Amino acid sequence: MDIHILLFYKFVEISDTENLKKIHLDFCNSLGIKGKVLLATEGINGSISGNKEQVEKYKLELKSDARFKDIEFKEEISSHHPFDKMVVKIKKEIIKLNKKIDMGKVGEYIYPEEFIKLIDENKEVIILDTRNDYESNVGKFKNAITPKIEAFRQFPEFIESFKISKDKPIVMYCTGGIRCEKASAYMIQQGFTNIKQLHGGIINFCQKFPNTLWEGSCFVFDKRLTSKINQNSSVITNCAHCEILCDLYRNCKNIQCNNLIFLCNLCEKKFHASCSEKCGDIVINKIK
Ligand SMILES: [Zn+2]
Ligand SMILES: [Zn+2]
Repeated sequence: MDIHILLFYKFVEISDTENLKKIHLDFCNSLGIKGKVLLATEGINGSISGNKEQVEKYKLELKSDARFKDIEFKEEISSHHPFDKMVVKIKKEIIKLNKKIDMGKVGEYIYPEEFIKLIDENKEVIILDTRNDYESNVGKFKNAITPKIEAFRQFPEFIESFKISKDKPIVMYCTGGIRCEKASAYMIQQGFTNIKQLHGGIINFCQKFPNTLWEGSCFVFDKRLTSKINQNSSVITNCAHCEILCDLYRNCKNIQCNNLIFLCNLCEKKFHASCSEKCGDIVINKIK
């Protein structure tokens, strides 16, 4: 059975986060929806999964709240539930940057149709990936600049070291768009004057224009870890042990290590789902 996965966010004032958390959780549980939803006074950010009927009901219910009536959903289909349970959490920010940002001034949207045209016509435009290094390692837009950051809150440090003139045309992108909302607002605050953000992110782009400008797979924050967003996705990364082309991300099974590595199915068995022989020995209890 097909499982539908929804990704969505909206920056909108939510003053009753505690109350909304309860309502939301009850509703999801009664529907059998699984996933993770973050609430903050600045908005909502979520990823949920269920069958077709469940997610359609979820969309209607969320939109019945006037604050979310125009929320946009990105939808993917998978053969397995990417979540084990339903959680709703209250956070300070729905995407953590640790900076005071005026969300009233965000980068102008550029839609996939315009983006593909722009890349064709304007070689000067800078394509900037706002995601983390372990995400851009598995896939990115051709010629994109990828900051070597481990977490989004390091993005401001990257911008400090990013020595380009502030009127250069820049198009930024992330998985579904939420990070670019904040990253673009931050860059505008820093004086950049020609900032655009890819509307709907990588997921939206690759659904409309598969097998064009995207190289590799797309990292996702659920049990799948990577999503084959192009039908004939090229793999651009290698197994940590045998080095064959492989985009299967795994956390090393030695929980003290927990390294995020690429691991092919053969090496997963051979090394007990771990990143090294030493970690493998710990997993099978050879070393305590
Ligand atoms: Zn291998
Ligand atoms: Zn390890």
